[in-house]
Amino acid sequence: MTRIVSGDAQPFEPTDKALRPQTLAEFVGQQQAKANLSIFIEAAKQRAEALDHVLLFGPPGLGKTTLAQIVARELGVNFRATSGPVLAKAGDLAAILTNLEPRDVLFIDEIHRLAANVEEILYPAMEDHVLDLVIGEGPSARSIRIDLAPFTLVAATTRAGLLATPLRDRFGIPIRLEFYTHEELQKVLMGAAAKMGMALTPEGALEIAARSRGTPRVAGRLLRRVRDFAAADGAEVVGRAAAASALARLDVDEQGLDALDRRYLRALIENYAGGPAGVETLAYAIAEARDAVEDVIEPFLLQQGFIQRTPRGRMACAKAYDHLGLAAPKGVGQ
Ligand code: ADP
Repeated sequence: MTRIVSGDAQPFEPTDKALRPQTLAEFVGQQQAKANLSIFIEAAKQRAEALDHVLLFGPPGLGKTTLAQIVARELGVNFRATSGPVLAKAGDLAAILTNLEPRDVLFIDEIHRLAANVEEILYPAMEDHVLDLVIGEGPSARSIRIDLAPFTLVAATTRAGLLATPLRDRFGIPIRLEFYTHEELQKVLMGAAAKMGMALTPEGALEIAARSRGTPRVAGRLLRRVRDFAAADGAEVVGRAAAASALARLDVDEQGLDALDRRYLRALIENYAGGPAGVETLAYAIAEARDAVEDVIEPFLLQQGFIQRTPRGRMACAKAYDHLGLAAPKGVGQ
């Protein structure tokens, strides 16, 4: 599923290395997370110890990878990155762990997709900085223990609920990333436009921000497309009108909803009388995978109050009816 408003990184998308904020001070928003992290980072530096393990959770595109890199930079240590699905065998993780230097940051993205046998060797590594490996098979098998350098695991997940409790409990610093406000995204966009050498007015930035679903990755992507349209139209400065017209051509409406979101809301309202409807049923109705519905479509619709999640299923709120220009039946939740 390739959507311009999806928070997920897309294949072949530029990684914007030059645009990534490099320090905590440059990282826009997430005030509480930043305030806490800077205290813990300072304390770890003063004690010359590895920072406690950090779990970053929240929807895709909110800055988990960026923040992990910043943590390593602020600590003045190396940054090694891998991800749950890449670590197929225990040996893959063992090879990375034994190569870490004291206090390094190891970043594991999508930690909820770690295989069970890999997770098992992670526990003693996180807790006691040791690696318990079994060498050989059958009667000649023996286990060996290897000491590791103290390190910091920074793990990211879009699904904290899927983590086994023993794993979740091993993170001393759990941090939930929140969607960004329009003003915060406006700041992100002004910074990115300046770095790209693009003339963007604050009003133009706000127009893009309002349609970016609270997600910096979406904001960056919309900015690049708006720049293309502006170039094609010969506009030198991108203001509110130019941004709005480009976004309309991309089929992203004033609230940041695209055709797929509207299809989801329409299915809920028209096929299931506004709900309650189960997620499987809805995913089927719009021909999308359940994971995509739960990870990409619903978090933003929930956060914006278009839908509600109840024990009996999803329900459309008055805002969803309004948005589609439909009359809400009596008694529909706000
Ligand atoms: P995640 O790991 O949560 O999916 P990333 O860290 O890869 O998200 O961030 C996605 C994009 O958004 C990157 O291009 C990054 O530069 C940008 N970004 C994320 N958070 C911020 C922020 N607070 N300020 C500025 N840019 C940000």
